[in-house]
Amino acid sequence: MEREQVLENILECRRQLRQAGGGDVEICAVTKTQSAQTANWAWEAGLTRVGENRVQELLQKLPALNPHFQVDFIGQLQTNKVKYIVDQVSRVQSLDRMALALELDRRCRAAGKVMDCLVQVNIAREPQKAGLAEEELPAFLAAAALLPGIRIRGLMAVMPLTRDPESLRPYFRRMRLWFDRLRREAPEGVAMECLSMGMSGDYLVAAQEGATLVRLGSAIFGAR
Ligand SMILES: *Cc1c(COP(=O)(O)O)cnc(C)c1O
Repeated sequence: MEREQVLENILECRRQLRQAGGGDVEICAVTKTQSAQTANWAWEAGLTRVGENRVQELLQKLPALNPHFQVDFIGQLQTNKVKYIVDQVSRVQSLDRMALALELDRRCRAAGKVMDCLVQVNIAREPQKAGLAEEELPAFLAAAALLPGIRIRGLMAVMPLTRDPESLRPYFRRMRLWFDRLRREAPEGVAMECLSMGMSGDYLVAAQEGATLVRLGSAIFGAR
């Protein structure tokens, strides 16, 4: 895709978000499969955060990526790969199990840093998808709050694949209810600030239901 088109797509997503009442929703540009050069066009349009879902691809892309980007890891993360990204990303959105929390904590403490994390929630309970079940959240947050190498900053929802985004509205709404409840009841050390939900096909519904961050790949860069 051409640079002009990418810039125009980002403006259009912003317009649509504003119309849906989500004018202050942040856009994370999902740059998987895109070159660093293409990803950097998102910076020109004012986006400051990119999301990548594969460790190797991320490491290959980083040297040419605009160094001012905040880089979020958004894919399934094997514990044996944590060491490669600890110094490279500013946040892990896909914290989906305690073993990963423990390894992030261990590696970050060794590196003298604290990793911001979002807890991934499998709100539709799809067996093939990673992420916590909603009722596991309070206990998980209580345990994660005790790990000084990570800091929980919110939730990331994964949703069923569908052509009908309206059918996801109850799941988005449920995520927002959990987000608000956990914000009120958050253990010390947990900051419920970010609710990452909505992708290219469903981000307007997600914004209407209270997302604070949407993750947009194809809506910005075209079909992969
Ligand atoms: C690929 C991906 C996205 C973006 O998907 P699009 O439909 O292209 O917007 C968002 N979140 C995660 C976790 C992804 O892997």
